[in-house]
Parts: sequence; C-alpha cells; structure tokens
Amino acid sequence: MKLIAANSDVLAVDGGSPVRKTLLPYGRQSIEESDIEAVVEILRSDWLTTGPKISEFEEAVAEHVGAKYAVSFSSGTAALHGAAFAAGLENGDEAITSPLTFVATANCVLYQGAIPVLADVSPDTLNIDPEEIDKRITPRTKAILAVDYAGHPADLNSILQLTNRNGLIVIEDACHALGAEYQGRKVGGIAHMTIFSFHPVKHITTGEGGMVTTDDAAYAEKLRRFRNHGINSDARQRQNERQWHYEMVSLGFNYRLTDIACALGIQQLKRLEVNLARRRQIAAKYDAAFREIPSVLCPAVRSNVNPSWHLYPIRLQSEELFADREEVFRALRAENIGVNVHYIPVHLHPYYREQFGYKGGEFPVAESAYERLISLPMFHAMSDDDVEDVIRAVIKVMAAFSC
Ligand SMILES: *Cc1c(COP(=O)(O)O)cnc(C)c1O
Repeated sequence: MKLIAANSDVLAVDGGSPVRKTLLPYGRQSIEESDIEAVVEILRSDWLTTGPKISEFEEAVAEHVGAKYAVSFSSGTAALHGAAFAAGLENGDEAITSPLTFVATANCVLYQGAIPVLADVSPDTLNIDPEEIDKRITPRTKAILAVDYAGHPADLNSILQLTNRNGLIVIEDACHALGAEYQGRKVGGIAHMTIFSFHPVKHITTGEGGMVTTDDAAYAEKLRRFRNHGINSDARQRQNERQWHYEMVSLGFNYRLTDIACALGIQQLKRLEVNLARRRQIAAKYDAAFREIPSVLCPAVRSNVNPSWHLYPIRLQSEELFADREEVFRALRAENIGVNVHYIPVHLHPYYREQFGYKGGEFPVAESAYERLISLPMFHAMSDDDVEDVIRAVIKVMAAFSC
C-alpha cells in the first residue's frame, strides 16, 4: 500500500502548509513599558546627550562585566574604531582577526590605516585559532582582535599568552557575548579592551549603541577623547566648571551615545540575566531536539565557558543530505522560520578580494563552515510555541532532504 504524505509533511517550499503562519525573526528586541517611561523622562529633561545618564549606564555596564571602566559609543562599530585608535593602530601596523565575523571587526583596523590579517578559526567553536594567530605574528603586529562567535568566548587564555610573549594588545569583539563567562569570569574584564554592541538584535539594546570596557585608565581616557572629536573635556564638565575653554589634542569623531539611548540601556541591562537564562534554556531545548539528527551539527560548547547565545548556528552535515545550504535555507524560510547566515567570511567580500587579492581557499575551516551554517531564531522573547515551531520545521525539512 502506498502511503500519501499528509499535507503537513509536504514542504511549504513545495506547496505544503508552513509550520507557522507568520515569520519568526532570527533575533529581535523586547521593549517594556518601563523602558518607554525611562526614555520619555529624558525627553522632558535638560540633557538629551552628554548628560548624567551616560556615566550611569557606563558604570552599570562596567560593574556588570567586572571592568574598571566603560566608555559608551554611538555603535558597536564606533566602539571598535575607538579601541583600534586607543590600541595605537596606525599606518603599516597589523592586527590579526577572524575571517568568520561581521565585517565591522576587520573594518575598524582599516579605519586606522592598519592592515587586518586574518587567521583561520577552530573547527569546534568557529572562534579564532590561537595556533593560526601564532603563525601570523610579525614585527608589525600590534593587536589581536578576537571575536566571541555566537556568544561563545574566544580561547582567551591562549590568546593572552601569545600577547604576554609578544607585547600585543588583545581587543575582544564581544558584540555577541554580553553576559558570557570564561572560566567563571564575565567577558568584559579579561581582554585589554572588550567591545559590546546594543543593536536591536543583540542582548540588550539602545537602538544603536556600543561600549568599550577596560581596566586600563589610559585606554579609557583615549576612548573618551576619541568619541568627542579628540577634545579633552565635554560640554557638561565645562558647564559644571563654569568655563568655556577646551582643546582638541588628537583627531577624533562625534561617536557619542545620547542620554535617550543610555536611559533605555539602563532599563534593558536590569533584565539581562533573565534574558540570558531564557536564551540558555532555548539553546538546551534545541540541543536536545537536534542531537539525534545526523544531518545537523549543533554548536559546540567548551567545558570552561558559559555562552550567552546571541546566535544558535547549526552546521549542515552535507554527507547526510541531498540538498545544499541554499535549498535548506529556502525551505526553512518557506516554513516561516526566519533563518539567517552568519557570516560570509570577511575575505570573500568583493572589497576585501579587491584590496587584498583574496581568491577563496585561504581559510578552509571558516569557508567550509560558512557553506554549512544556518542561524536558527534565538532571542529571549521567543515563546515555547515559537521554539517548538523551529524544532518542528528543522525536523520536517531535514527529513525531506536526508539521504
Ligand atoms: C553587531 C556586531 C558589530 C557591530 O555592532 P553595531 O552596533 O551594529 O555597529 C561588530 N561585530 C560583531 C561581531 C557584531 O555582531
């Protein structure tokens, strides 16, 4: 007897009914009434920018991550630029970073006229491989820019050991990793400088916004100057001191975050721990559901870390499938699961190919991961039904494409 598949088994991409009616995004913010009230309060106050909420938010973030200083910026990208400046990167210098990241990580090196040197990632975590870094250190290397991919901290001890030997500066791009722990310590107080982003898809949001945390007073001072045109005081300080005089002592930018944004950030930060707990719960549900599917490789977690799960990127085991990533991606989208891909490796973007002559094939681990990666929806406001929808859709699509 021939069984006819129920309509619920026919992929939506082939005309079947989708697992859910509306598109579930891969990440999104959550805004509560208390957030809105805090922002409105600032709109009625004297200081829309460079006011008291700036240091209040900075101090709250510094305390949360266990760093002495936090300096806010208008975006994570501006914060990365500030860190590249504070590290003293300039023309002819090199900074080593991961190919499997958002382009902003490498771009901040270029902003300073320095050269981003890429080093391949480890196959388990997809974080930069310390042995690959070691091979690329030259007399011109000044910094290492490690990325905490998906919220799993980079191999910070091994990286810091390299720098002890070579006097390099470690900048940690922790835009995925607010609240993540490495050997029981929060990221943000471990590297020389750590960068966070408050874009709406990240753990907490200020609309746009970013932060650098550091234990080094000299870096903090340079960062504050850099975000304010290279001027060594700000408008509120001058008002408090009843004076007008200021001096520009280095070249900087207007990368300031507003009090409106910081008021939102202060409220959001209060919910970070609850938010992280929910992300960890969702990751555990995904792990349990997908562990048994041969065509799906779940993200690895090393024993000495507690990831913050900005993303939940699975890798397709192509040997088990007769469809490639594009087909699986399209099938999941048709089921109304807002999957995404993180990331096109930096060196494969047209700009990097043209500027540096990359042809593909230079970073085999990152490139092979890229061809298999799919980020599933992961944000703390997902309901249990949302999580179930993702699991059902992945099982449905994998069953349809499995050899
Ligand atoms: C989000 C992100 C950035 C940039 O942050 P913005 O706030 O969007 O400028 C940089 N690096 C990584 C890894 C990111 O995920």
